[in-house]
Amino acid sequence: MSNHIKLFIPGPVEVSEKTFRAMCAPMIGHRGAEFKKLYGGMQPRLQELFGTKCPVFLSSSSAWGVMEGAIRNLTSKKVLNAMCGAFSDKWFDVSKRCGRQAGALQVPWGSPVTPELVREALSTGEFDSFTLIHNETSCGMRNPLPAIADVLRSFPEVMFIVDSVSSFSTEAIPMDDLGIDVLLTGSQKALAMPPGLALFSVSERAMERATTLPDRGYYFDFVEFAKNQEQDMTPSTPVIPLINALASKLDDIFTEGVANRFARHAALNAQVHDWVRARGFEFFAPEGFRSLSLTCVKNNREVDVAAWIKRLREKHSFVIDGGYGKIKGKTFRISNMGDETPATIAELLAALDNTLA
Ligand SMILES: *Cc1c(COP(=O)(O)O)cnc(C)c1O
Repeated sequence: MSNHIKLFIPGPVEVSEKTFRAMCAPMIGHRGAEFKKLYGGMQPRLQELFGTKCPVFLSSSSAWGVMEGAIRNLTSKKVLNAMCGAFSDKWFDVSKRCGRQAGALQVPWGSPVTPELVREALSTGEFDSFTLIHNETSCGMRNPLPAIADVLRSFPEVMFIVDSVSSFSTEAIPMDDLGIDVLLTGSQKALAMPPGLALFSVSERAMERATTLPDRGYYFDFVEFAKNQEQDMTPSTPVIPLINALASKLDDIFTEGVANRFARHAALNAQVHDWVRARGFEFFAPEGFRSLSLTCVKNNREVDVAAWIKRLREKHSFVIDGGYGKIKGKTFRISNMGDETPATIAELLAALDNTLA
C-alpha cells in the first residue's frame, strides 16, 4: 500500500498482513460447531495470558463497553474510581452516568495511585467496588498494581476492577494471584488487532455479586456471558472477523513465547527511553512508574510537536502521538506495542531525529 501510514500512537497500532488475512475467512454461524471450536479452542491460551482459571469472555465492543459493564454488574453501594489521567478520569464520569454512586480518588496526571491512598479511601467503608487503570495510556504512567492488589485483600467486600487495555500481553498480569475480580482489555493496543473487540474475565465471587444486582442491562450482562460461554458461545452475534484475527494473534504470541514477548516489549521500551535521555528530553511519569508499552515524553525542549509529527508523516509515513487532552503539545507519546522489533523501533527513532530540526 503506497499510502500506508504506520502508526506508533498508543492505539490503534500497526496491524500485520497476517492478521488482516485471518479476518478475511468466510463467515461461519455463531451458534454452530465451527464457532464453538474457534472460541472454545482459544480458551486455554486466553486463560494463560489472563492468569486465570475463569473463562475469558469476548465482547463485540471496544473496551469502554466492558468498563461500563463492570460498573453496572458490580456496583451496588458505591464505586471508588482511581483517577490519574484521561481514561481513569472518564471512568468516574461513566460510573455516574450508569446511575451509580461514585467516589473520586484523584491524583495529578502522571503521578501513580499509591496503595496508601487506596487504603485510606476504602477504609471509609463506603465502597463495594474499585476501578484501577493499570497503565494510564494518556500519561504513560503505570500504577503499582501488586501493591494495590495487596491493599484490596483487606477489603473483601470491594470488587477489584482492572483495566489493562494498554498493558495486556506486554507483561504478566496474573489475575487470580492478584485477586483481580474483573480484568479487561481491548484489541487495538498491544494485541495489534483492529479495534472492536474487548476481552475480559470475571472472578467467581464477582459473578456471584452480578447475579444479585437487578439492572445489569443486556449487552454487557456478565451473567449472560457466563451462561453462553458454557456452550462456547457469546450472548449476541460476535465480531467473527476479529475473533479470527485473535486466533491468529494467539498463534503469533505462543509461537514467539509469552516470556519472550514480555522481554521484547521491555527491550523496545528501554530502546525508546535511551533515545529520550540521549536527546535531552524528560519523562512525564516518575521513575519506577513508567509504562512498559509506550513512552510519554515531556516536551521540555519546547519543540513544535504538531509540526514535527507532520514532517514525520510526510517524509517517513510514520505517526506518533502529539499528547492527549490537556497535555497535548506539552508531551508526546511513542508506542512500542504490538509486533515492533528493535529494527523497526530504530527506524522510527532515526526518522524522529531526521525530522526534529
Ligand atoms: C484505549 C484505552 C481505553 C479505551 O479503549 P476504547 O477502545 O476506546 O474503548 C481504555 N483504557 C485505556 C487504558 C486505554 O488505553
